[in-house]
Amino acid sequence: MGLRVKKGFAGFISEDVEFINKQNSLLMRFISLFYPAFMTNLWTTIGNKIYYPNTERSPLAIKNYAIIKHELIHVKQFKKYGVSLYLFLYLLCPLPFLFSYFRWKFEREAYLHANIQTEEDIDKVVNLLNKYYLYPWPKKWMRAWFIEQFHRRENGGNS
Ligand SMILES: [Zn+2]
Repeated sequence: MGLRVKKGFAGFISEDVEFINKQNSLLMRFISLFYPAFMTNLWTTIGNKIYYPNTERSPLAIKNYAIIKHELIHVKQFKKYGVSLYLFLYLLCPLPFLFSYFRWKFEREAYLHANIQTEEDIDKVVNLLNKYYLYPWPKKWMRAWFIEQFHRRENGGNS
């Protein structure tokens, strides 16, 4: 049983969600058999359930707010596409490796809005995507996209 949090909590929780320790999920434990960092380092959202790593003592600590904002963007994406279609696109479309267009699309939106504050963050994010997300897209292309969006945001104000 996870921790249910209502929309509006802490001023930035923008959906009703449930936080669940990965250790308490059979599915997450199963996946981590093949991919141990999945259990100890990564947060994962499915629908409105946000699974946090088993090394995390208090998921709602302020230090996790950027991560939670990122996961909330995935919650909204799940709402828009539906869980089955979202998972199909995220995992398999068009390929699981290197040309995972939808994994790249869904992650870039979340990282751009929740995790990139300065230009230096771009390389960090590109390396994370490259390392933990099964190479969603060629590294150079990912970097170019973030740089363009970052400058557009800096110059354009609120877009
Ligand atoms: Zn993500």
